Amino acid sequence: MQNHLDHLIITMRDNQKFICRRCGKPHQLETVMEFPLPDDISDITSGRKPGELKTLFKQSYLIDGKYILTKCALHINIVDLPDELELQTWIRIERAEAKRAYGNTDGEEIIVTGKLVYPIPFYGMSDYPVVKVDLVAEEVYPVGKLIFSSEAFRRDWHDGITTARLQEILSDLHHA
Ligand SMILES: [Zn+2]
Repeated sequence: MQNHLDHLIITMRDNQKFICRRCGKPHQLETVMEFPLPDDISDITSGRKPGELKTLFKQSYLIDGKYILTKCALHINIVDLPDELELQTWIRIERAEAKRAYGNTDGEEIIVTGKLVYPIPFYGMSDYPVVKVDLVAEEVYPVGKLIFSSEAFRRDWHDGITTARLQEILSDLHHA
C-alpha cells in the first residue's frame, strides 16, 4: 500500500470561508478531496515499470491480470449544510473477489468488495477501509458503500459530520 498524501488535491465546491483553528486565517470550506492516481497505474502508463494494464470500465483497470484498481467516491453527509464531503479515491479488488463477482453477475451490476489504496488521513494512517462498489454503475465512477473501517470513520459515515468538524479536518490538513 502506498502513501502519497502530499498529492491529495482538495477542491472547493462552495464559496464559503472559515477561520482556521491552527493559523487564525480564513481558508476555503472545501468539500471535495481527490486522491492521486495509484502508482501501480502511472508506473505502467509512463513506462517506469513493465506491466499490463487493461481498461475494464471508466477509471477501472486490471493490472497484470491479477487485481483491479477502480476509482470510487465515498460520501459523508454534512448535517448542517446542503452538501456532503466527497472523497474521490481508489480501491483495490483482488482477483478471487473479481472472479466471484463476474461469475455471479447478470450483466446489470457487478458488486465487488475492495480495500482503499490510501488511508484517509483524518481517520488514521494505518486504516484502509473496506468498501463495496458496483463496477458498472451509471455514475462517472461508482459510489462506495462502507463495509469495514475504524470506529471514527464508521460513526461519521452513519451519522454525518457537522460543518465545525469539517473545519477541524480542513485546518489539520492545511497544516499537516
Ligand atoms: Zn490555517
